[in-house]
Amino acid sequence: MTTKKKLIAGNWKMNGSLAANEALVKALLQGVGTPACEVAVCVPAPYLAQLQSLLSGSPIALGAQDLSAQPQGAFTGEQSAAMLKDFGVRFAIVGHSERRQYHGETDEGVAAKTAAALANGITPIVCVGETLAEREAGHTAEVVKRQLAAVIHVNGHCISEIVVAYEPVWAIGTGKTATPELAQSVHALLRAQLHHAADEHAAGIRILYGGSMNAANAAELLAQPDIDGGLIGGASLKAPDFLQIIAAAR
Ligand code: PEP
Repeated sequence: MTTKKKLIAGNWKMNGSLAANEALVKALLQGVGTPACEVAVCVPAPYLAQLQSLLSGSPIALGAQDLSAQPQGAFTGEQSAAMLKDFGVRFAIVGHSERRQYHGETDEGVAAKTAAALANGITPIVCVGETLAEREAGHTAEVVKRQLAAVIHVNGHCISEIVVAYEPVWAIGTGKTATPELAQSVHALLRAQLHHAADEHAAGIRILYGGSMNAANAAELLAQPDIDGGLIGGASLKAPDFLQIIAAAR
């Protein structure tokens, strides 16, 4: 059991509008008070300026959903870590399963993006997780360890600065949550791997759970010894639900 502050990060995915974002953030700021955990929202890139302004001086940090591994140049459609930094971005999701699945992101690419974030003072939230087929074939441990090993290989001792998110792909957006015991068993594996790479710093690395976490199941998941917070998709778009999850993280 560790004593670090938990992190609750919302992943808005490709949702929102200027009007909807403003209403959501206003409701969050009205209800959030002084949270016991760290809170962030990872928003679509076009809304970074809006959110930087809305969240200014608040206890909610700004996050991005992806970044380029490259520092600048001819990479149409990409955003560099330095550009995100210009908007006060503190966290960036890296290697979300939707990017691995729909954009062909590889373990090596995810490791390079992690390095770009770290080099620019942005905390990467590095996602790992197995598909349903991989779980059913008994390959969960092998898959998540391979994904994390690539990040460790490229980033060495700097991995003490990352956040890891265990997101079983079969639980994302499906309403099927990993049981607290199942999630804890994978988190413990990841913790052991981090321990091997970062020695005593491993205990301070936050490992979030993500995959249909909601207001009803958050407290039980967050009570597990190696679950240090949550990466929340759908439920982060509903202020009362997200606020309840934040309240459960202490
Ligand atoms: C996610 O997108 O990272 C996620 C966990 O989504 P959901 O909470 O909707 O399953």
